[in-house]
Amino acid sequence: REKASKMPRYPGLERFILIEKMGDGAFSNVYKARDTQTGAEVAIKVVRKFEMNSNQRANILKEVQIMRQLDHPNIVKLIDFSESRQHYYIVLELCPGGELFHQIVRLTYFSEDLSRHVIVQVAKALLYLHEEKGVVHRDIKPENLLFYPVPFIPSKDPKPRGPEDEDKADEGEFIPGVGSGGIGQIKIADFGLSKVVWDSQTMTPCGTVGYTAPEIVKDERYSKSVDMWALGCVLYTLLCGFPPFYDESIQVLTEKVARGQYTFLSPWWDDISKPAQDLVSHLLTVDPDKRYTIEQFLKHPWIRESNEETYAAA
Ligand code: ADP
Ligand code: MG
Repeated sequence: REKASKMPRYPGLERFILIEKMGDGAFSNVYKARDTQTGAEVAIKVVRKFEMNSNQRANILKEVQIMRQLDHPNIVKLIDFSESRQHYYIVLELCPGGELFHQIVRLTYFSEDLSRHVIVQVAKALLYLHEEKGVVHRDIKPENLLFYPVPFIPSKDPKPRGPEDEDKADEGEFIPGVGSGGIGQIKIADFGLSKVVWDSQTMTPCGTVGYTAPEIVKDERYSKSVDMWALGCVLYTLLCGFPPFYDESIQVLTEKVARGQYTFLSPWWDDISKPAQDLVSHLLTVDPDKRYTIEQFLKHPWIRESNEETYAAA
């Protein structure tokens, strides 16, 4: 394995063999690695703690702290956390498919069925985060949506498939389609900007029951609606292949977002159904009080019209 020999070595990470780099960020590299004790493949986010100030370090610990409490099929699982003098090591469930972003680039855009298959999974994760855990993600975007690809099995079996079918997988290019199990299992990653808005132990906004100020309660609602806006941006992008808001100038872009200035651009949107457009517009609503909540999203006809059994993963 000449590739492996070019990989860096980190003190305290001897248990793992780094296989390849899968991604990077401002202070981190993410590697695919093999756990020599279990034989399993994992992802390891190696964070360069020596380049960070105390605030940034605290944020990493918060990210890990939040991930520890999460257990959902559509959220990347935290496996282990450790640190050396210079690094933090965040060991994560591996998503071999990589970023959804790259699939949008590869396929240009997704069919309505495939878009629904993806967005429903993201929504299920958000329902869990918002309503069960009191956590808002605050950085939902295609780069932070990873996936576990469905193995390509040329059969008539329309059921979604999981990692356990891996050994049956075929070689060759796989063009995802809902009938063949879709793109696989979508998983939300990167809790670097996430925040706890209420205490899932006491089921209250952080603070004493009855003494919580209205702005705290509103704050909680607003931060959830931030994820719903982002969900709308992702859905828009899946359906047509480009984002709803874009401009080369950051100032102009910021202004467009602030005004909610987007269009269903012709000819790209001409063949996309009215219900799909209706759903997008209820998410890309500037007033957070009028924007759809996760429950409203899940009740929308475009989501419900689907034949769930065919492709609702997990
Ligand atoms: P950052 O905060 O720097 O954006 P992320 O947690 O988003 O860090 O990771 C950066 C990139 O690394 C992701 O966009 C993705 O490409 C890759 N990556 C992260 N976690 C995993 C994982 N569990 N499986 C596969 N790739 C991953
Ligand atoms: Mg990221």
